Amino acid sequence: MQQIREDLAELSQVKWLCTENTNVYVLRLDQIHPLISGNKWYKLRYYLEAAKASGQKVVTFGGAYSNHILATAAACKLYGLQCAGIIRGEEPEHYAPTLTDAAAQGMELHFVSRMAYKERQIPEPLSGENIYVIPEGGYGEQGMRGAATIPYPPAFFDTVCCACGTGTMMAGLLQHTAAATSIAGFSVLKNHKSLTAEIETLLQRPFPGNSFINNDFHFGGYAKYTDELIRFMNELFEATAIPTDFVYTAKLFYGAKALLASAFKTSQNLLLIHSGGLQGNRSLPKGTLIF
Ligand SMILES: *Cc1c(COP(=O)(O)O)cnc(C)c1O
Repeated sequence: MQQIREDLAELSQVKWLCTENTNVYVLRLDQIHPLISGNKWYKLRYYLEAAKASGQKVVTFGGAYSNHILATAAACKLYGLQCAGIIRGEEPEHYAPTLTDAAAQGMELHFVSRMAYKERQIPEPLSGENIYVIPEGGYGEQGMRGAATIPYPPAFFDTVCCACGTGTMMAGLLQHTAAATSIAGFSVLKNHKSLTAEIETLLQRPFPGNSFINNDFHFGGYAKYTDELIRFMNELFEATAIPTDFVYTAKLFYGAKALLASAFKTSQNLLLIHSGGLQGNRSLPKGTLIF
């Protein structure tokens, strides 16, 4: 099993995105491991340490294409931990590649109804076992602390941009970065109005005034996409050789590029966090992407 190589996360300038005013950089967290992708490793690391110390079985939640499920499965294998995934919805006749891969890493899969999932019920027989529950998406204090170890020079960038699902990564970046740096989070969910409050809960302080969440680039909502977004992903790859995923990082890159002429106009050094997630592109019809 391949080790996690944080040192392989390249930090480089993206000429294609730079403007007269702004140098745009990307941190390639997608490069640290083929299965334990991007920000998921950082969010998981302290949960897994705790589970290892207590000798408990790791249990977590996710959908059939979840980056978090696959990353947890592979990271538990690497750590020698038993793990189970509670998957939303009925057991499909044919598993999507994400689930096939998670099972191949040794994760037990438990399928539960949408209702049971919503209530985060732990199904039998797991409920009777000695388990360590990691919240969906790694949301929580330990997830934030882990995300705060995402490696980049904290004072060099005046703007750092990331995609937001639960906001755990953004909370971590807010902890890690110099106070003068603005963090811009691009929400990939439609109408996720409680995101700011959820980040404040993690931070245990008010949302910093120089940072913000943008809600304009969800492209219809979670895991939704348009022809325009796909065109952009292919164009970005052609110009820069950077692959993105349609659920998170493509929306981040698209949104950040769109704001270079306005919100980011006065930024000199802007960083895009490539948080991984490329495996999710396998749910797109074949031939959609050129990479
Ligand atoms: C899970 C994920 C995110 C969202 O991270 P949060 O901490 O939940 O906001 C962003 N990008 C990728 C590629 C992800 O897999």
